[in-house]
Amino acid sequence: MIKITLPDNSVREFDAGVNGMEIAEAISRNLAKEVLSISVNGEVRDLMRPINSDASIKLYTWEDKEGRDTFWHSSAHIMAEAIEAYLPGTKFGIGPSIDNGFYYDIDLPEGQTLTEKDLTEIEKKMMDLARTKSDIVRSEISKEDALKLFTEKGDPYKQELISELTDGTITLYQQGNFTDLCRGPHLPNTGYIKALKLTNIAGAYWRGSEKNKMLTRVYGITFPKQKLLEEYLVLMEEAKKRDHRKIGKEMELFMISQEVGQGLPMWLPKGAMLREQLEKFLKNVQKKFGYDQVITPHIGDVKLYKKSGHYEKYGKDSFQVIKTPTEGEEYLLKPMNCPHHCEIFRFKPRSYKDLPVRLAEFGTVYRYEQSGELHGLTRVRGFTQDDAHIFCRPDQLKEEFLKVIDIVFIIFKALDFKNYTAQISLRDPSNKEKYIGSDENWEKAERSIIEACAEKGLNTVTELGEAAFYGPKLDFMVKDAIGRSWQLGTIQVDYNLPERFDLEYIGADDKRHRPVMIHRAPFGSMERFCAVLIEHTAGKFPIWLTPEQVVVLPISEKYNDYAQKVSDYLNNSDIRTVVDDRNEKIGRKIRDNEMKRIPYLLIVGEKENETETVAVRRQGEGDQGTVTLLEFKEMILSEVKSILSELYN
Ligand SMILES: [Zn+2]
Ligand SMILES: [Zn+2]
Repeated sequence: MIKITLPDNSVREFDAGVNGMEIAEAISRNLAKEVLSISVNGEVRDLMRPINSDASIKLYTWEDKEGRDTFWHSSAHIMAEAIEAYLPGTKFGIGPSIDNGFYYDIDLPEGQTLTEKDLTEIEKKMMDLARTKSDIVRSEISKEDALKLFTEKGDPYKQELISELTDGTITLYQQGNFTDLCRGPHLPNTGYIKALKLTNIAGAYWRGSEKNKMLTRVYGITFPKQKLLEEYLVLMEEAKKRDHRKIGKEMELFMISQEVGQGLPMWLPKGAMLREQLEKFLKNVQKKFGYDQVITPHIGDVKLYKKSGHYEKYGKDSFQVIKTPTEGEEYLLKPMNCPHHCEIFRFKPRSYKDLPVRLAEFGTVYRYEQSGELHGLTRVRGFTQDDAHIFCRPDQLKEEFLKVIDIVFIIFKALDFKNYTAQISLRDPSNKEKYIGSDENWEKAERSIIEACAEKGLNTVTELGEAAFYGPKLDFMVKDAIGRSWQLGTIQVDYNLPERFDLEYIGADDKRHRPVMIHRAPFGSMERFCAVLIEHTAGKFPIWLTPEQVVVLPISEKYNDYAQKVSDYLNNSDIRTVVDDRNEKIGRKIRDNEMKRIPYLLIVGEKENETETVAVRRQGEGDQGTVTLLEFKEMILSEVKSILSELYN
């Protein structure tokens, strides 16, 4: 008998060789129906693989990322099988699961392309294969045999992958007539797949390198229930309407010009206003929490990034060094603000009484992304972080974490993100030598994060081994209005940079000590955050934030002057107002401006002109009656003030 420890720490005994499915059956019939894969001592594996000695296990279902990964990765194999049958001679690259589904990179036979109609045929074939409920079988193979197999099959991409593997670790998975080189894990059989959709075709270089051949990437998604596919398709329709690239264009928020460069968004006047309001808001919050704003340049000496270690990551494989014409100096576009802030900390001697020092900057950084990876505001080559670095004593770490969590909560509340979770990334306790910093500090930091999250009642998951080598961290995930998850801000402890930059403070004992550094960016970046915000609100920003709060609509040309007077009056009180004096019917003007998601429309004509009043329409609520200019001004100002004061206090 072997001992199987379940996640609740209960222990059950089974015969050696028991598999995950049998364990699930022993727990409950329903679980056995739902379970997709298993982790055995932290390694995710096939459900049907025998367990031969004592182990800690966790069973994964559709509710778990690991479960969905297994499901979708298996689906990639089934798609490959369908494609191989449909287009014999296709060669296969890699086929991983992704956040929403899976893809497979394939090299189509000479002269062949894929159309919508082909995708439909492949979908049909996949459903047929699913209905056969073929077992997906794992086998181990020697490197030599694996090479032989794929050479015979004529699959050069697989041969290349195999040649890089270590003998003794190579596995194959087979279902029906299809065999793939794969680490797994996979579903027990193809019958788990009840509904599917192939969603997209794109080009992708083999292994992401422009030097290699361009392959065809086929994307798809599958589900264990038909209903889940239907829900997904409705969600995709809604997501399309909320696409930040579409709304960004309609609302004139930002643009990307191929002339300026790919992945380098430019903010149009209204988008710049949106950003300015967000920055102002966060600066105000940070001021209350004792932050100091700093400003640093967009480039830095290569030596700085060699010292910080960033050169290794952002040097050769990112934007290249900038050289001065004669002095032989070398600079790098700033990939991170941290080294600059470390130098600011070193500007003068610091005492324990000066700590924490909290340096904040809306710092623009540049990182190379492959052109195929670029996407709207979410994957770009230049972006502005709402960055700050906190230099504190080890005993202040928890307090500082609590405060940063408070700031994150204020932001979520302000922008109506009601649904969020956080991931605590800790070190792998069985691999401690991988990490920099003393055991004692790590334990203290990890405990601080866990306690701070618990005190704030934050819903968290903890991942062992996910910490960076230089410190543990906390990442926030939000769900938007249509239930999609986005990763936003990060709070990261760092023992490495203070070491590399030899940062010190004089302690109460008159001795030199190392401060701990915290990196934090609650928005993440302004670009990414604005994208999430646009998709979350569908462009209907809260009134305090929206770039145009009021549009004045004269009924006819005769009242353009009065409309301008109203607009000037409101702008003088910092109410962002414009006039729509186009020569259009009033009904059309109302519709157009409602489409533009303007919170307040003011209609002015004969009566309003004579009595110095405005007829008010509110977004989504229609006609609100007629009020004097002064009344309207005070109404808006108090609406904005009450929202903001509730947030700050
Ligand atoms: Zn695979
Ligand atoms: Zn940093």
